[in-house]
Amino acid sequence: MKSLLLISLLLADALSFVVPRAGQEVDYSGFKALRLKLSEQSEDIEAQIEELAAHVLNPGRSELLDVVVAPENVDAVTALAAESTVITEDVGAAFKEETLATKDEVSVAAVPSETWFTAYHPYADHITFLRDLQSGFTSQSEIITTGTSVQGRTLTGIHIWGSGGKGSKPAVLFHGTVHAREWISTMTVEYMAWQLLTKYSTNSTVKAMVDKFDFYIIPIVNPDGFVYSQTTDRLWRKNRQTVSGNSCVGRDINRNWPYKWEVTGGASTNPCSETYKGQAAGDSPENKGLVAHVNSLRDSKGLTLYIDFHSYGQYILWPYGYNCNVVVDNDAQHRSLATRAASAIRAVSGTRYTIGPACSTLYATTGDSTDYTDAVGQSTYSYTYELRDTGNYGFTLPASQIQPTIRETWEGVVSMVRDA
Ligand SMILES: [Zn+2]
Repeated sequence: MKSLLLISLLLADALSFVVPRAGQEVDYSGFKALRLKLSEQSEDIEAQIEELAAHVLNPGRSELLDVVVAPENVDAVTALAAESTVITEDVGAAFKEETLATKDEVSVAAVPSETWFTAYHPYADHITFLRDLQSGFTSQSEIITTGTSVQGRTLTGIHIWGSGGKGSKPAVLFHGTVHAREWISTMTVEYMAWQLLTKYSTNSTVKAMVDKFDFYIIPIVNPDGFVYSQTTDRLWRKNRQTVSGNSCVGRDINRNWPYKWEVTGGASTNPCSETYKGQAAGDSPENKGLVAHVNSLRDSKGLTLYIDFHSYGQYILWPYGYNCNVVVDNDAQHRSLATRAASAIRAVSGTRYTIGPACSTLYATTGDSTDYTDAVGQSTYSYTYELRDTGNYGFTLPASQIQPTIRETWEGVVSMVRDA
């Protein structure tokens, strides 16, 4: 009995989910990123790998799983896979290629310059960025908020309008950083806002975009998780909500939307999983705020285009996630816009995107944002962008790739807004 207890304690200790000591940052020195090929019907093996890995980087993907593994667990994990390749020899060392600016050089209330997009930034500076940008264009923008996070942070964004006046056109809505570790998505969504405002008076393409739609742009919809990814665990994905009776933290806000939430197979009911769906549909405060905002856009001028920016993988996906046999009624139009956007991106620097309906192209997801904006938000178009890269750097894309990524993605978005 005693030994059984000891074994289960040891196993519990091996349970992934690096739990840092208070005030300490998780040190990934020596951890490896592995790409695992699993044999078929491997749900059981996948569960074992999830327990051994520090993080699953692409949860839900069953045939090719990217994981980060502590040195002592590498042998056990590779033994479970049919094939394995090392993506990153030393994850901790790779993190050092990211540049997190410690203090931002933008002076108060000046419109941020393009150098903002040459580094990653602390959370507080992102809020300053939005306020400084807005203060330079007060006649055609306002700061918006869409609810509050678990820890009391305000979900903050910017609303941009053109010659028709505030709130006169159908909505285009951009979300970023629902998954905390996907830092390139923050920079990308901010670039959209920056381009639309700073180029409006000089660029006819931008002017046409802003005069056609009201833009609602929220670069960080998971602020608590984002802060945690900057202070404690660089690979954190979820929000920071606790579950009573369980020590694991966090709901996946992008498995929490109240549409087809109850369908099985596209999210986890285990609070320790990277894709934990929550105890009830829409039971994360972040999701409640986002849902209310989507519904209010639907009920005013309507929603034409929604894009949820993620990384990594280089995909443009559209609904549905919850069922691989169900497609949206305007599937052909979704494909047409995505095809043209992918070409526009590729024309900039050769980056190739894979496009298609989410479930059949990538993997099943339930309670995700684009299923909701399509089915309930009645958005004409709903997309998920999975930005650079395809796994070489994964979430920790070097700062030197921020500008190439945002510039090519901008062209994809211009194409979609023109076509929508
Ligand atoms: Zn994501």
